[in-house]
Amino acid sequence: MPEHDILRRFIFEKLPVQGRCVHLDASWRAVLERQDYPAPVRTLLGEAMAAVALLSATLKYDGVITLQIQGNGPVPLLVVQCTSRFNLRGLAHWRDESLPSGLKALLGDGRLVITIEPAGQGERYQGIVPLEGGTLAECLEGYFQRSEQLPTRLWLTAGDDSAAGLLLQVMPHRERDPEAWRHVTLLADTVTGDELSGLSTEQLLHRLYHEEDLRLFEAAPVSFRCQCSRERIEATLRGLGAEEVTGILKEQGKVHVDCEFCGRGYDFDAVDVQTLFVPDAQSAHSGARH
Ligand SMILES: [Zn+2]
Repeated sequence: MPEHDILRRFIFEKLPVQGRCVHLDASWRAVLERQDYPAPVRTLLGEAMAAVALLSATLKYDGVITLQIQGNGPVPLLVVQCTSRFNLRGLAHWRDESLPSGLKALLGDGRLVITIEPAGQGERYQGIVPLEGGTLAECLEGYFQRSEQLPTRLWLTAGDDSAAGLLLQVMPHRERDPEAWRHVTLLADTVTGDELSGLSTEQLLHRLYHEEDLRLFEAAPVSFRCQCSRERIEATLRGLGAEEVTGILKEQGKVHVDCEFCGRGYDFDAVDVQTLFVPDAQSAHSGARH
């Protein structure tokens, strides 16, 4: 039985290696329902969604992890986000209808930015690496190598109905065992995309590691949920500046903003716009938050 919209963590009892497996189903289709992505963009976005869910499992506190790819290719922007409660969202921009395949051809030269924002107090972390490697998985492996010096491998797949991923990582703060690492990653290299999305975590781990002693933890549900709000849209409008926003208001009678992640619409009439840019209201607003 395949598993739907869940993430599971596991460890090798006798080897210093840990792993995670994610299956995205309805959470992935919710992204596809909102935008008709060309096939190569869809594949890349689905893989990125699976990847960010796998990465979010490393968060040790309430927060959001964002994976952003910016390049000069036909896909200039891809953003995926996952909270520590496994609420996911994602989007991609593309320029042409006929797109090449392959990571380099789609993204061109660019960079991969990983941002971790704690929900409450705490420091925002940002790691940036150049886009290198033939696949998104290789790109992310490069990121882990540079930023955390923690050997990490990912296997990702995405189709029209589901996206899935497997992550293996050397256990931090344990003595390294290169031979064991080679052994478990060589076995994982034999996994096919169909197996990754079609088999349950238990079946997949049995197929790969039936000779190893494994501990599989409970499944955590993963879902699509957007974190947009009127307050956040207001902050964006303030960022645009009074001149720009009142210009739109004059031209269109109101300011309408659609959230690009979930499609939810936000309207601002003349009074709303005025309130946005009243200095007193702004300072009272920010004062209330601190
Ligand atoms: Zn939204």
